[in-house]
Amino acid sequence: MHRFYRASAALFAVLAAILFGTPASAEIVLDYTHDTGFFSSNATAKAALEAAASDINAVLNLNLDAITDDTVTGNGGGGTVLNFDFRYQYTNPATGASVTVNDTTTPANEIRIYVGMRNLTGSTLGQGGSGGSGIAIGGVSGSGPISAAIADAQASYQHRRNEGPVIGTLSGNVSGNSFSFEMGPALGNLWFDQDTNNDGATDSAAVLNANWHFDHTTSVAAGKDDFYSVALHEMLHSIGFGGSETWDDLVSGTDWLGSEVIDLNGTGTGIIDGGGAHFAAGLMSTRITDGMAQEVVMDPTLTTGTRKYLTDLDVALLRDIGYLNASAVPEPSTWFALAMIGGGACYRRRRQRAKQSMEAAADV
Ligand SMILES: [Zn+2]
Repeated sequence: MHRFYRASAALFAVLAAILFGTPASAEIVLDYTHDTGFFSSNATAKAALEAAASDINAVLNLNLDAITDDTVTGNGGGGTVLNFDFRYQYTNPATGASVTVNDTTTPANEIRIYVGMRNLTGSTLGQGGSGGSGIAIGGVSGSGPISAAIADAQASYQHRRNEGPVIGTLSGNVSGNSFSFEMGPALGNLWFDQDTNNDGATDSAAVLNANWHFDHTTSVAAGKDDFYSVALHEMLHSIGFGGSETWDDLVSGTDWLGSEVIDLNGTGTGIIDGGGAHFAAGLMSTRITDGMAQEVVMDPTLTTGTRKYLTDLDVALLRDIGYLNASAVPEPSTWFALAMIGGGACYRRRRQRAKQSMEAAADV
């Protein structure tokens, strides 16, 4: 009996790992901490948002290392020790306030996106961006070189997460000794417009329903903006489209330099919007779901009454910046320092009758 029990326990452990363990691939986890009641009372909108995350997660194919060491200690010998205490920063989606996360420990494969609603002016439907990061440095001076302590810390820090894009690089110096930490994807933020009639007040449910099309399972009503489509677009910004170091390295003016997009499209020349965070307006591709022609999700604008799904070119962007198992190619008192990096981008509505004028202004 005893042995049988042990075997059962082992089996349960295996099942638990399958059922509750680390996801096999990196995935977006939506965080409703800052929801002020909208998503908790609008199950249809929440379902559309979750569907957008699910559709992106189905494409992602990479492994992001867990971050178990929030503070990384570098030992320079002779009693010289440096402590690099990492922190993350994101924008409260409801208020716009900057939120600092002091404990950066993160489960493997998790990218946490904080979501919410906010009153936006003009034709902006939503905004999304990756989070920022910072570092506080403390230490003890000894006879060993500071540069050795820095090298020791850089050799063991986990915030690069091994795969995926470099969101940004934290760099600085301690007593003239430079340090540099590339940061991988860990968190982001996105929000949607809840002042659709631009009267300066948060819309009633009736007004929101008159301007947003929340149900991702039905065709988009004429004149309405599709919530799912905006969610898909902003979520891609949240994981580094238009606001990460790897993305920026692949943009040169209006040219895209990534080989996957170039191979698929035939050229990268002139296919990036002037703002540098989107494809050029009107670029067409094919939907991954059914191969039908469709304007890319990462177009700067969305036409009312229409829905977008991921296209081959959007997926090629994901591949180029390292989200499809293509390992990125990283290079891998002054006793206290603080540095922050961050990014953000937005998405604008395009009215069908005002296509040309809106395109000129459509940008981050
Ligand atoms: Zn955008």
